[in-house]
Amino acid sequence: MKKDSTAKIIRASIGSLGVLGLRNIKLPAPPTTLYLMLGEKCMFDCAYCPQARTSHGSTDFLSRVIWPKIDWELLKNAVLKAPDIVKRVCFQVVSSKGYVEEALFFVQDLSRTLSEAKESSSNLRTLPISVSIRLSDISDVKRLFDAGAERIGLAMDVVSRDNYANIRGGDFDRDFHFILSAGERFKGRITTHVIVGMGETDEELFNAFSGFYKRNITVGLFAFTPIKGTRMENAKRPSLSRYRKIQFMRYLFSMNKGFVPHFDENGKLISIEGESVGNFVKNGAIYMTSGCPNCNRPYYNEEPLGPMFNYPFIPDETERIVNEFTEKVERNKVVFRE
Ligand code: SF4
Repeated sequence: MKKDSTAKIIRASIGSLGVLGLRNIKLPAPPTTLYLMLGEKCMFDCAYCPQARTSHGSTDFLSRVIWPKIDWELLKNAVLKAPDIVKRVCFQVVSSKGYVEEALFFVQDLSRTLSEAKESSSNLRTLPISVSIRLSDISDVKRLFDAGAERIGLAMDVVSRDNYANIRGGDFDRDFHFILSAGERFKGRITTHVIVGMGETDEELFNAFSGFYKRNITVGLFAFTPIKGTRMENAKRPSLSRYRKIQFMRYLFSMNKGFVPHFDENGKLISIEGESVGNFVKNGAIYMTSGCPNCNRPYYNEEPLGPMFNYPFIPDETERIVNEFTEKVERNKVVFRE
């Protein structure tokens, strides 16, 4: 933990550098969270990730976003002057050698810098810190909170029991229960990530959301995005209409709205019934990026020209979105096209 921070280099997403004024780029949707990346070349081998051990993809990428290197001191100074639109900082930690200690160092250093700056100038805001990291020991989760993290993201990513070991490596039940137990121990401070399009059924997504939201674990939902050089570079993305109904289901869980899902014999979600679900479906917030508060991850899954799986802002075309994925919308029932 007691490392010298001089001449430390990390990576930041190109959009984060843009919003901080460290890169001159056009931002059709500025990020409301700053995304910083620690480490490279992961010891794990997730089939969809360009940072994976056997991936031939560029380590400059995570999903479809580019992450230039930057001096840590320079970046920290820019974070202190971040524009008001920025509401959070998130460290994306690649599981390279010594990654937990590395994450502890950076979280503590940033947290200390932010509170010292706040003490000397009451006009400064303190930005909450999230850490997205792969852990299997609950004491490491606690150490990161003690170092200054506000939320920890423990990604499940794959909710298909049959495909988990092959796509992500590890044991489905062990990893799922680890995230649940972290949620029970650190109430309201755990986020997980789930990717749609990993061979799971809609019913498996329902079961996973149900477990997470029962423990107050927030779900950041993503659409599988094939990246060149990864084992899944030729796999298909989920259809937009399937993704929309899963977004809708996740949103109902997040709002604690009781509902009854109907699945066919293959676990495909056909319809949802519940008090005024037909009004809920028109809420544009459903189709935005989800996860920690103010995490909007612009263009993480999509090209700026679309199609938009996760909107980084409230879409103004909600009626069109709803018509595209629903067959029938009644006050207490929504029937899906696909
Ligand atoms: S939801 Fe966003 S802010 Fe939270 S851990 Fe995931 S990427 Fe980071």
